Amino acid sequence: MMEKNIETILVKAGRKKKYTQGAINPIVQRTSSIIFDSIHHKNQASKNNNNYELFYGRKGTLTHFSLQKAMLKLENGFGCALYPCGTAAITHSILSFISAGDHILITNSAYEPTQNFCQYLLHKMNVTTTWFNPLIGDKINTLIQNNTRLILLESPGSITMEIEDIPTIINSIRYKNPNIIILLDNTWSAGVFLKPLDMGIDISIQSGTKYIIGHSDAMIGTAVANQRCWTQLREHSYLMGQTIDPDTAYLATRGLRTLYTRLKQHEKNGLMVARWLSSHPQVARVNHPALPSCTGHEYFTRDFTGSCGLFSFILKKRLNNQQLDNYINNFQHFQIAYSWGGFESLILAYQVEELQKIRKNIKLDFTGTLIRLHIGLENVDDLIYDLDNAFKRIL
Ligand SMILES: *Cc1c(COP(=O)(O)O)cnc(C)c1O
Repeated sequence: MMEKNIETILVKAGRKKKYTQGAINPIVQRTSSIIFDSIHHKNQASKNNNNYELFYGRKGTLTHFSLQKAMLKLENGFGCALYPCGTAAITHSILSFISAGDHILITNSAYEPTQNFCQYLLHKMNVTTTWFNPLIGDKINTLIQNNTRLILLESPGSITMEIEDIPTIINSIRYKNPNIIILLDNTWSAGVFLKPLDMGIDISIQSGTKYIIGHSDAMIGTAVANQRCWTQLREHSYLMGQTIDPDTAYLATRGLRTLYTRLKQHEKNGLMVARWLSSHPQVARVNHPALPSCTGHEYFTRDFTGSCGLFSFILKKRLNNQQLDNYINNFQHFQIAYSWGGFESLILAYQVEELQKIRKNIKLDFTGTLIRLHIGLENVDDLIYDLDNAFKRIL
């Protein structure tokens, strides 16, 4: 029977008896070698080795197959490749499809290491990158060259949270050149609130390090591809030695079971904090995709079915170093840390000139200090109390 409700899909996905051996969760199968019964068996396994059949550890074990099957159900894909972290998922998805002399398009609001990979490493391989404004819409086709091979979207954008008009961008590209591979970094929605493959994206990439793992204690990347991209993504990623250990695969599968429930609480807490910040006299703007003050909010309401706990806001004031220390260093509940998606609330601050460096040709239109929050699973009144005190420290 086809499941269609996300909560049920996440509870059931990847739990064939072959993977669980009769337990509730899949077994953790730790191995490099797979022992064959005979030459015939070895030959059969070699023939089947891309078909979720045991062959060699690097090609996955029952633990990996269970996670891959579950990810296909979550993201409605044809095949899922696993990577040691989200960054590896992004770089190897790109590397799987480009050759020297190609041109690619990347959103100006992409995750900084993604931008750096293109700028420094792809550049060395004679692959050129054009950066586009996340609000470009159908004008994207004006950037397509004869050698344009691939485009990467990320919505909402990192830190500044712009929402892209994904369907318009896809149509504009497909109209001009249907062979261009379209990737989307889907980490923010966790594959729950946005369904890129249903919209015509070729490969949906996630840093599973964030909400899928959900407890800040492991790292993993996933790339879920449609039929036309799967074989090449799989073969090229394997050739580059991309594989993960079964213990991490197990943690990711386990994370999927509670993913929806955790996200709904992150969403609820996040919205309460974002609304409270919206009416705060020291706040200039809240970049929460579900609020009208976020750039591209109209595309969010059209394309997404919910929001997670990650957003940012801009202070009216630009904090000097001492004010910044005072504000950020004295929280009770918000920890100062990179990454997000775990159970705990996190905070980071950015000055506009730091952001301008990674926004290239977008002219940032604010002057106040930007604060990025990840809202965790703590009691929301505790979090608001913590923030309220912080504002008093910079009056
Ligand atoms: C964290 C993150 C990544 C990178 O993931 P890692 O697992 O840390 O390598 C990629 N994209 C986005 C949007 C992220 O937030």
